[in-house]
Parts: sequence; C-alpha cells; structure tokens
Amino acid sequence: MSNRPTCCPHSDCPSRSGAPFSCRRDGHFQRDLEPRAVQRYECSACGRGFSDQTLRVDYRLKRPGLLERFFLDRVSKVTHRQSARNHKCSRSTEERHFKRLREHCRAFHDKEMASMAARGGLGETFLLDEQETFEHSRLKKPVTVPVLIEKASGFVFDARAGAMAPRGRKRARKGRTSPPAAGALASEPRLLGGIDPRSVPVVHRTLEARAGSALESAPQGGAAGQAEGAEIPRAQLLLPQNAGPETHAGQPPAPTSDAAGGPQGGPPPSSKPPARRRSESRAKVKQAFELLRECSPKDKPITVRTDMKKTYATLLRRIFGARCLHQRTISTRKRDTRNPLWLINHTLARTRDGLSRLVRRSWAASKLRQRLEGHLAIWICYRNYVRDMTNHDPGKTPAMALGLHASPWSAQSLLRLRVLP
Ligand SMILES: [Zn+2]
Repeated sequence: MSNRPTCCPHSDCPSRSGAPFSCRRDGHFQRDLEPRAVQRYECSACGRGFSDQTLRVDYRLKRPGLLERFFLDRVSKVTHRQSARNHKCSRSTEERHFKRLREHCRAFHDKEMASMAARGGLGETFLLDEQETFEHSRLKKPVTVPVLIEKASGFVFDARAGAMAPRGRKRARKGRTSPPAAGALASEPRLLGGIDPRSVPVVHRTLEARAGSALESAPQGGAAGQAEGAEIPRAQLLLPQNAGPETHAGQPPAPTSDAAGGPQGGPPPSSKPPARRRSESRAKVKQAFELLRECSPKDKPITVRTDMKKTYATLLRRIFGARCLHQRTISTRKRDTRNPLWLINHTLARTRDGLSRLVRRSWAASKLRQRLEGHLAIWICYRNYVRDMTNHDPGKTPAMALGLHASPWSAQSLLRLRVLP
C-alpha cells in the first residue's frame, strides 16, 4: 500500500473524536499471503501500532480471496448454502463473510452519500416504488422493499426492508396452515396432531373411547395397559412421557409439572398474544425521502415519480414542501418503456434477478428482513459502483453517470480498504 493512512483504525483513539492524527512508519512484517511485506505504523494520538493489513477489509481472514467470490455470488442469485459448497467452506464461514460484506458495503454507500450531500447534492428526477416479499411466511410476515433511484443514471439512492401487516383475515391465514380434517387424515385418530400434550385427562378420555370396552374391562394395576391389544401401545406413544402408568388404569392422573404450571415448577405459559405485526412501510419510505432531501440539490426543484399511494404525497409535501414536483402514475398502466415508472420497475426486476432472496417461487426467501436489508446493501454497491449502467455502454457505471466518480470500481478495489471515519 503506497498511501499513508489518514485515520487510526482503533475506534477509541482520540484522533477519532477530533484530535489531530499522524503516524510514523514502524518497520515491516512478513506474511504468507499477498501482499507479503506489510508496513507497520505507530499512531501519534494513541501510541498504539497498526499496519496496512489492519486497514483492509480482509483483515484476519484465512482465505481473503473468498470475500470477492462471496460478493459476486450475493449479486448473482446464488444462495448462501450453494455459495459455501461452491467454494468448499463451511456455512458458518460464509455467514461471517456475509456479515463483513454487508457492513462494509453499507458503510461504503453511506460514505458516498455523505460525500454527495457535502457536494450540494446530485440529480434532478427521482423514482420510488415498493416491491413485496416475505420473511418465513408469505401470509403472516410479508415485507416491503422501497427502492429509490435517480432517473438519468439509475443510481440507487436507497433500498430498505420493512415489515408489513399480515395478509388477509386471521381465520383465512389459520385455514391455510392447519391440516385438513377430512380426506387422508380421516382414518387416522385425531390424537396425532390435535391434542395438547399438557391436557392429560383429555387424552385419557379420548383413549378410553377409542379403546372401547376392552379398556373398561381391564384389570386395575400397573399391567393393565399391556393387556389391551394393539391400540394401547399405540396410544401410549401419544401421552406425555411424565404421565405415569396409573393414568392408563382409569385413575385420575397425578398432577404433573405441566399441569401445576410450567416445566420444573416454573410459571405457567403466558396466554398473552404475541405483539401485532405492524406495517413499517411509511417509516421506511420516510427514511428514503429524508435521505433524498440531504443528497439532492437544495437550490433547485426536484421531481419525484411514484404511483398513486397517498402516503407518498403526504410525506413529500411534509419533507420537501414546494421544492418537490410530485408526478403520480396509476399502477395499472401498462408497464412498458413509455410508462413514467418504467425505470424503477426495471430496477425492481433487477433486484429479483440478482438477489437470491427475492427470486420468486423459490425456497431462498429471507428468514429475517434485517438480513435482506444487508443483502440489499451489497447489491447497491455492486449496482452503483461496479456494474455497467447498461450493456450497451461498457465501462460506465451509474455512479459515473451521476457525476459521483470518474472511473468504475472493480469488486476487488471496492473490497480492499475498510471505511473509516
Ligand atoms: Zn490511534
């Protein structure tokens, strides 16, 4: 590394809170991987040492080459597990790299946006739209992904993931998940899936009814359950393990730990319903517009194109006032290139094409929307700074078209140095 460090990598260094920073060279050390000779430094503000390697994104990675491969996999519709298989590493290794990638890419883009704001803002016309996906359950946990771009360059300003309220009526959602009562399960005893194991007396009565007169005529005692033919051992499998043999003999069941409360005498299970899932759509869109307010030119009006959702008009009026011209397009209009929202629709299609989590009708959907947001941060960096704006104009990235950079970044250069304040 030829450039002198401009910041101390230690987060508690006084130079990170305003003290002047300088460093002096402090020898070299050799490593097995490239680069082999690494320059050491000593910070004048805190007196501690660091090296060129400390400042790199692949700091302390045993296989630093994996970082770039995982970065490209994350924007190439490859799932995490398949990525680990392809590169012959464990799933936990891939997960650690994913964490490092998403944090670095988020910091990188935030720094670029701060740089844009410091320059007075860029862009004239912007487009925003939301797409829907889900975490775990399409009906119970839908997720909204608002994306904000600049029109002329396609530069992605912001993309987030927020919760949405559950879909449909509660009864309809339950109907989708509960097993059918008739048909294939009609011949099976409903004991298999329908009885709470805590309700031992209910289980006992049901077993009695199904066992018929044989159970009623069974002799009292511990061996009673063994004399009832084939149904009793089958029924025993359905009883909780802490239920004693006397419960099979028609005697009242002894109070179990579950009946007395929670396991091991703990508090009874809470009957409080889980917190209702509320929509974060408005909050996420508001954050996107607030970012736009900071990073768009403040000395001239801007244009924002959206669909007809009322929330957008309200937020734009409150955040921008008269400075923003809001152009609305009905969402049922044909989505061709003449549609004013064509570019944002095309960008959303690109996310579906690049992010494994957003591919429809696959099992790669995100389990946590926070991970989806990190995945989007990686895609934003690839889309804005690495990938060409179009296939017909190679070498020109959206960041270059917007006027933010003069040359494209490669994945390798983008992942070289940590983003330090
Ligand atoms: Zn320092």
